[in-house]
Amino acid sequence: MLSFTSKINKIRTFALALVFAGIVIMYIGLFFRVNQFVMSAFMILGFLAIIASTIIYFWIGMLSSKTIQVTCPECNKPTKMLGRVDACMHCNEPLTLDKSLEGKEFDQAYNKKRP
Ligand SMILES: [Zn+2]
Repeated sequence: MLSFTSKINKIRTFALALVFAGIVIMYIGLFFRVNQFVMSAFMILGFLAIIASTIIYFWIGMLSSKTIQVTCPECNKPTKMLGRVDACMHCNEPLTLDKSLEGKEFDQAYNKKRP
C-alpha cells in the first residue's frame, strides 16, 4: 500500500521535479557556451520546463477548488480527494467516495469507469 500517494501530492512532486529539471537543463547549457545555438536551445528548453511547472502549479490550484474535503479514517486528518478513489495526503490510506468500492483493492482504474 506504500506506492499510493494522493493525486495532488503526485502532481505537486512532478511540478517541483520539472522546476529542477529546467534549472539543470539551463545549467547544462552553460557547458555549451562555445556553440551559441546549442546553448540557446538548452536555455529555451529549460525555460519551457519552468513555464510548464508554473502552469501545472496553477492547474493544481484550480483542481484543489474542485476536491472534496474528507477526514481520513486512518489518521483523522482532513485530506482532499480528487475523483472517486484517491489516497490520503498524510498517510496514503486509500480512500473512496463510492460505497460499492469500499473494502475493494485500491485501483486507479476506478476513476475512469462511469457508474
Ligand atoms: Zn490519513
